Amino acid sequence: MEIIKDPKQIQDLTMQLRCSDKVVSFVPTMGYFHEGHLSLMRWARENSDIVFVSLFVNPTQFGPKEDFNRYPKDFERDKNLAEEVGVDYLFAPEKNDMYTDDHCTWVNSPKLSQYLCGKSRPGHFQGVCTIVLKLFNLINPHIAVFGEKDYQQLVIIKKMVEDLNIPVKIVGRPIVREPDGLAMSSRNAYLTEKERKEASQIYKGLQKAQKWVKKGLIDSESIISKLTECYMENIPSGEIDYIEIVDPDKLKPVQKIKDRAILAVAIYLGKARLIDNIMLEVKK
Ligand code: AMP
Repeated sequence: MEIIKDPKQIQDLTMQLRCSDKVVSFVPTMGYFHEGHLSLMRWARENSDIVFVSLFVNPTQFGPKEDFNRYPKDFERDKNLAEEVGVDYLFAPEKNDMYTDDHCTWVNSPKLSQYLCGKSRPGHFQGVCTIVLKLFNLINPHIAVFGEKDYQQLVIIKKMVEDLNIPVKIVGRPIVREPDGLAMSSRNAYLTEKERKEASQIYKGLQKAQKWVKKGLIDSESIISKLTECYMENIPSGEIDYIEIVDPDKLKPVQKIKDRAILAVAIYLGKARLIDNIMLEVKK
């Protein structure tokens, strides 16, 4: 595996690759790898000829009071893990090489960013769209792989690619979980032992909601209020940011589940803000 830090160097390389007969895939990450990241890399390894992974903690997607400065890092470990799963190129640029002091061009998706995490993290998806487009321009991939863990991000990136005619296929991959159900996340490292135990209740609650829907409960307000109660009881150290039931493509809240809807949650727990989601399907 080759490590590249210079954006110009990687662009020169990928421009040539794009014109060859090789299929190039790309997995953007902020590092501190866990099985969720590695599952995306493995998928890319199996479904393309050349695998690029980026490791860049993107400052523009963090709010002023968020965890940019303490985001967990372990470059040596990440490098070894990426090499083990067969990544070809690890792109790890410096902040100043990605954003000059006078950077002033942004990509925005206000319609889809008005919901869920976009509401509690103003500017977050502007930072995400901008860095992802920059990375697409540097890596020139045929395929880019994202996790369904960040469901809103996946929907927004798919729409950005469609709206801006970006020549890349976006692939979404399922959430990888710990044995007790907690969605893997680099931010789980912030949790104390007690918080970590409570955190497993996030997914358990989502599964309960899925059962309620299977039994015929389709009114979003009732589901959200039952789940709120369940979280208040089982995650006493947590604070709910949001619990929402939204259309899987438009992300707009739905009042009644007609066919399929996404139940998405964000919970503050200690120093972490944890997100998770599940598909709710109405039995026909
Ligand atoms: P991050 O490093 O947190 O920005 O994540 C990089 C990519 O990994 C994103 O596409 C995430 O959605 C994906 N990802 C993060 N956690 C998981 C997980 N538990 N399962 C699957 N994909 C994940």
